[in-house]
Amino acid sequence: MPSRSEALRMPVFDGHNDTLLNLHLPERGKGRSFFTRSATGHLDLPRAREGGYAGGLFAIFVPTPGPAGPWVPEMIHQSAGAYEVRLADPIDPDHAAAFSARLLGDARRLAADSGGGVAVVRTTDELHACLARGVLAMVLHFEGAEAIDARLQRLEDFYRQGLRSIGITWSRANAFGWGVPFKFPSTPDIGPGLTAAGKELVRACNDLGLLVDLAHLNARGFWDAARISRAPLVVSHTAAHALAPRSRNLTDDQLAAVADSHGVVGVTFAISDLTPDGRREGDAPLDLVIRHFAYLVERMGIDHVAFGSDLDGTSIPRDVGDVTGFPRLLDALAAQGFGPEDLRRLAHGNWLRVIAATWKRP
Ligand SMILES: [Zn+2]
Repeated sequence: MPSRSEALRMPVFDGHNDTLLNLHLPERGKGRSFFTRSATGHLDLPRAREGGYAGGLFAIFVPTPGPAGPWVPEMIHQSAGAYEVRLADPIDPDHAAAFSARLLGDARRLAADSGGGVAVVRTTDELHACLARGVLAMVLHFEGAEAIDARLQRLEDFYRQGLRSIGITWSRANAFGWGVPFKFPSTPDIGPGLTAAGKELVRACNDLGLLVDLAHLNARGFWDAARISRAPLVVSHTAAHALAPRSRNLTDDQLAAVADSHGVVGVTFAISDLTPDGRREGDAPLDLVIRHFAYLVERMGIDHVAFGSDLDGTSIPRDVGDVTGFPRLLDALAAQGFGPEDLRRLAHGNWLRVIAATWKRP
């Protein structure tokens, strides 16, 4: 069993954060800087260094226009032991493209202003170099493909701007498919599969060498993508449906399909996705995250499970707190019996393998 100090030194590549949005919107991030240690949010450069955070997918997410953000309270129907959030309204693709371009600009400026501490990575060589030199690696990711028009004319342009990963949907409908509404208890099988444009998007991402992320997609969309994609399947931030039977989480047959494709599932730290009883608020123990890790490894094997924290996007267990809690998580995984090589794969090896297999262009 690795010692605490070994677990502490393990660099982590993480599958999901909403830090760019948190920094962009003062009502979320209170105007904090990425370069100053803050008590707001979960991730900034000083805390990343303390927590061994080496890099990750940085989501570019377009909130529903208006002050309420993605959803308003009337959309949540909560009763004893059950809830359902009405699917958010679709958003205008032109608005999405303009807002996404602003966050892409933010990411580029952040790297430029970092004095070499942060880089937007476009190739596996750049990614490996960042990890070797301790430069924080940002992989730019769309959480929902709204910014790309149905004829995919903007796809190459965003690729040239550094985009390397696309989630087909957030939990709303768009030109490509239907995101899964937040519902408990529920299977992910709600709504139709990918549209013709959605199937074309999967093929185009395969051709360009972009990750296709199936988080937030409904079951029929997932299986359409699984049939079409020639790349390892990726679900950047989710949890085990068997432990927390929510629409957002993956069933055992979905987990098996990701493993069969040599893909990866990032384990979310979102309390609202992890609790077995449908509770969306309050605290949860760090051990609950570990239980999801252990279950996914049991079902999928050690090569297909990774971090998908959702930092800056949601409430996470107080025992983790923020990115500086990552070593505590690795420590708890070590205490579960995961050895040094297992921890390396969970912490960054699996994400790096899947990215290398997918980003074909030099
Ligand atoms: Zn999400």
